Amino acid sequence: MPELPEVETTKRAIAVFEGQVLKKIEVHNPNLRWAVDCKTIKTINEAKILSITRRAKYILIQLKNYCLIIHLGMTGTMRILPIESNATRKHDHVVFYFAKHKLIFNDARRFGSLHITKSPSNHFLLSALGPEPNQSDFNADFLYQKIKTSNTHTKSFLMNQKNVVGIGNIYACEILFAAGISPRRKIKYLTKKDCRAVVDQTHRIINLAIEKGGTTLQDFYAPDGNKGYFKIELNVYGREHQECRNCQNPIKRIIQNQRSTFFCKKCQN
Ligand SMILES: [Zn+2]
Repeated sequence: MPELPEVETTKRAIAVFEGQVLKKIEVHNPNLRWAVDCKTIKTINEAKILSITRRAKYILIQLKNYCLIIHLGMTGTMRILPIESNATRKHDHVVFYFAKHKLIFNDARRFGSLHITKSPSNHFLLSALGPEPNQSDFNADFLYQKIKTSNTHTKSFLMNQKNVVGIGNIYACEILFAAGISPRRKIKYLTKKDCRAVVDQTHRIINLAIEKGGTTLQDFYAPDGNKGYFKIELNVYGREHQECRNCQNPIKRIIQNQRSTFFCKKCQN
């Protein structure tokens, strides 16, 4: 699944269309995670793109009157082709046409989505989101306040988009290892110092991953056609029974909320 760094990489790659005129949008298959509002989409013609930004794992394409909200879901990718290219693929569901290029949204499993709205900040997908994981409003004071009313364990808390956005399973495991905090611990028992460690490691790991162009799972292709790579070294994720790089004890795997959690019993408490 594309995680926040992959979405950021995708956003940066398609930001070349900022200032360009979006001629039209063709929807080949409206049956994404939510049905695409083809009626409104069809009204888009010759619309200048004012900005392309990211909020959590959503890409926002701002036009004069509307904002397009794209989510890549599990298998979604965006790729850029010259306008004359016929290199279409199975699962190319939406095509955005520009003067010299077309931008294609491909999604085999169709958990991705395309919404069109006049007011993105009030949109149901965006209105309840927590702060960005690599921004200064996600800080130790914020986290320490937020955890007091939570009864969940550390990993679930970090993966809840209402608390902080864009931390998926891989990054949650890696952040907690780097911070030395057990994924099984109740978040409300974290000290201010623990909160600072979680925040510092979140900033560090997310920024590192963005800098490296994102980790990547088999389905993610960067929009320029390059396959992404698992470029950050993973210390615990996917390393069950292997030696902890810190203490040589075997990495443990447990299931939390139907997801695998990897951690070191000795280094994280
Ligand atoms: Zn260890």
